[in-house]
Amino acid sequence: MISWILAAALTASNPWASQAFPAPGAADAIGTYTAGCLQGAIPLPERGTGYQLLRPSHRRYYGHPVLIAYLQQLARRSHTVGLPDLLVGDLAMPRGGPFTSGHKSHQSGLDADIWFRFAPSVLSRAEREDPTPLDLVDDRRNRVNRQFSPQHLRLLQLAAEDARVERIFVNPAIKLAACQALQGKPRGWLAKLRPWFGHSAHLHVRLRCPAGNDCQPQAPVPAGDGCGEELLSWFAPPKPATGSQTVKAPAAQPAQCRALLTP
Ligand SMILES: [Zn+2]
Repeated sequence: MISWILAAALTASNPWASQAFPAPGAADAIGTYTAGCLQGAIPLPERGTGYQLLRPSHRRYYGHPVLIAYLQQLARRSHTVGLPDLLVGDLAMPRGGPFTSGHKSHQSGLDADIWFRFAPSVLSRAEREDPTPLDLVDDRRNRVNRQFSPQHLRLLQLAAEDARVERIFVNPAIKLAACQALQGKPRGWLAKLRPWFGHSAHLHVRLRCPAGNDCQPQAPVPAGDGCGEELLSWFAPPKPATGSQTVKAPAAQPAQCRALLTP
């Protein structure tokens, strides 16, 4: 009951969650991935060649047209190489902005989650609404489990080898497994795989800020394949805390975003 009241209060205080339609005008990703909004979004259709959309009732299937085109092309490519259908999770809300629950990025229409669970057949609407995730990481060992397969590696490569992609977040254990699987082989594309907390049941793809848009690019990914020291630091024992931890206040959205909010 209390959590329901809390959720209702949060929805009421987050005007972005009640925007029913995209903001009209030319497509424009505004601000940053974690403090931004989106004009001229379009929806990803619920199904297409090589993919099925999850949780359609959440209406988090809007994106910058560049993101929608990217996802549809990735799904077609993965279908062509024989992968089962991709399951696409959250993109953005009709006008972007912060989700009321869950992750804090996905605000400017350039982020999308693709699940590691594939769909060998067409899922019913009920199954897509309440899907069971496939977790690839054994938390106790901090390594991938036996569910991690060459199909996942193929998907990650297809997703990363696209000039529109800025970076892809995956669990450190998944990046490590990819580094090990490609030892001695060309693996430059692994640079875009960025180790991050969570992300053991889905990959999170982030596109570059499209030219002429009002978005702020992120610092570029470090040079190299990222299979060295930085990755290994994720597996080192935690260092003792030094000093006091400061909690950063969330960055404010650009003023431009206010104009996109309808009362
Ligand atoms: Zn995400």
